[in-house]
Amino acid sequence: MAETNTASRPAALKQTSLNTPTAVEMVGVNKWYGEFHVLRDINLKVERGEKLVICGPSGSGKSTMIRCINRLEEHQKGTIIVDGTELTNDLKKIDEIRRDVGMVFQHFNLFPHLTILENLTLAPIWVRKMPKKDAEEIGMHYLKRVKIPEQAAKYPGQLSGGQQQRVAIARSLCMSPKIMLFDEPTSALDPEMVKEVLDTMVSLADEGMTMLCVTHEMGFARQVADRVIFMDAGQIVEMNEPNAFFKNPQHERTKLFLSQIL
Ligand code: ADP
Ligand code: MG
Repeated sequence: MAETNTASRPAALKQTSLNTPTAVEMVGVNKWYGEFHVLRDINLKVERGEKLVICGPSGSGKSTMIRCINRLEEHQKGTIIVDGTELTNDLKKIDEIRRDVGMVFQHFNLFPHLTILENLTLAPIWVRKMPKKDAEEIGMHYLKRVKIPEQAAKYPGQLSGGQQQRVAIARSLCMSPKIMLFDEPTSALDPEMVKEVLDTMVSLADEGMTMLCVTHEMGFARQVADRVIFMDAGQIVEMNEPNAFFKNPQHERTKLFLSQIL
């Protein structure tokens, strides 16, 4: 986390730096849903601190790919290594990796019957076995970070979509993730709320978080991405730094896609 935040940083907060220079490595990853070949020979290396934006048409396998990184989906062929640990059927390792990899979804998935602060403290208390007081301190720390500390005692249903998504981001951060996965975090939001969520993501990027973001927000991609990936039909078709990606796409499929969304 940024040095500027250390003054207010709760003591119980866990160190969040990755152990290895490579955050995520995928080598020859293939996955099938039954007969359907959803991921085809995915090769991808994400360095510590890197920001990757993943775009591509609906159904191209973007969600499946990032969900494989924290084993919400299981790949059948190839290797996935997260911060030096290979994802296998070893449940202990899967658990460790899940603790290090935060995920934010299109639909915020907050618990409706818990207050905002309770949503934030649930996993730190039950998964990390953190004392409630420490968890609440950390929860408030991140609610301030996403600029809605005054909403702590409310319930998710009382917040706007943009506020709920910022709570979802704060909830992830409470677990001190080393890597953050975002799966179209703004696509369910009303247009006027997109910016506040993107601003939160930009500030996270500025603090050095390793981020893999599935998004079609190309302004965000230009602003923060180190590389942009275009996926189609389960393959990585193109990967480039944002300037070249937008100015000079190489593949017809990328050109067509960009012409439709830009
Ligand atoms: P994207 O996120 O790019 O829209 P997904 O990764 O969600 O794509 O899906 C890729 C393809 O896999 C789609 O054709 C989708 O219908 C299919 N798919 C996704 N999840 C499942 C599942 N659990 N079982 C069967 N097919 C699935
Ligand atoms: Mg998806």
